[in-house]
Amino acid sequence: MWWILCASVAAMEDERPISPTPREDDVNYDRALRPDSFDDYVGQASLLDNLRVFVEAATRRGEAVDHMLFCGPPGLGKTTLAHIIANETGSNIVVTSGPAIERKGDLAGILTNLQPRDVLFIDEIHRLNAAVEENLYPAMEDFEFDLIIGEGTHARNMKIALPPFTLIGATTRTGLLTSPLRDRFGILARLEYYTAEELETIVARSAGILKIPIEAAGATEIARRSRGTPRIANRLLRRVRDFAEVEGDGCIDIAIAEHALARMRVDALGLDPMDRRYLETMIDKFGGGPVGIDTMSAALSEQRDTLEDVYEPYLIQEGFIQRTPRGRIATMTAYQHLGRKPPAGRSGGAQGTLI
Ligand code: ADP
Repeated sequence: MWWILCASVAAMEDERPISPTPREDDVNYDRALRPDSFDDYVGQASLLDNLRVFVEAATRRGEAVDHMLFCGPPGLGKTTLAHIIANETGSNIVVTSGPAIERKGDLAGILTNLQPRDVLFIDEIHRLNAAVEENLYPAMEDFEFDLIIGEGTHARNMKIALPPFTLIGATTRTGLLTSPLRDRFGILARLEYYTAEELETIVARSAGILKIPIEAAGATEIARRSRGTPRIANRLLRRVRDFAEVEGDGCIDIAIAEHALARMRVDALGLDPMDRRYLETMIDKFGGGPVGIDTMSAALSEQRDTLEDVYEPYLIQEGFIQRTPRGRIATMTAYQHLGRKPPAGRSGGAQGTLI
């Protein structure tokens, strides 16, 4: 029963055109559209300026770049940045993820095969299991791996020297990282949502690579509704292209972009039916809050993690909801966007809270 529920929840999340988590058809496009140098990477300007310096300094000294932790919601370009750092330093990248490294032996296999200055990218690093994580500490700090050879009274501790490498960890939830792990990263960086202008540049760039005819106004419309996330912008571009080819003349102009996005039920601010259901539930069932995350999770039949990682960051960023110690609350912006009347006695500015 539980797995059926999980499967259907995952499927719901997967069906959203604006889900920021990668889907099967994204994988090839992600690769094709991924910028491979700092110069091609759009946005995150201050982070990029710093990374350029760190990479340049380490390269001049002939050293591996310091370990880095990238955090931020899915689809903002963490994996892309890891590839760029490997490219810019002329090194190889080994890509894996927290849940994929199940045992100490898996980690030993990965680490002992690295070449000097290679980049090891561990996605979802907050999901590493505790035993594996502990073995990562000496590897990060001293480039050493502790092995136990033999059993019982004959067991011996051996240290294997590792080549200097750069660990790049990515996480959507820094809060879930243990502090010993977090403290071992020399560089901690938070990726921010992109502005509509930055996303417009990304849409235009991707349209160029995929040879999709697009007018500036069409790119603006897609960018505006992409929730600040490049992966969503690229996915909406591909879906709008389908509408342009089948129901238009092949070129993405403002009219076909608006038509296609309306057909996908992505509204003017980039909210989809699931976002609206979240806000409607909060307002109609719980009087606008405060309401706890577990109550919302039960009311929506969505996992708590999915709500916290995928839905809420954008709703908070755009000022539809606020997190308070007593729970989530809907703001005036949410009431206005859904065309609901705020309860009597509550007021606030356009962005103001109701409480
Ligand atoms: P994350 O690892 O944060 O989930 P990715 O690095 O896989 O995100 O990014 C998803 C896709 O979005 C990439 O393949 C790329 O096409 C696009 N993308 C991400 N960041 C940028 C950027 N700054 N400029 C251009 N395209 C980007």
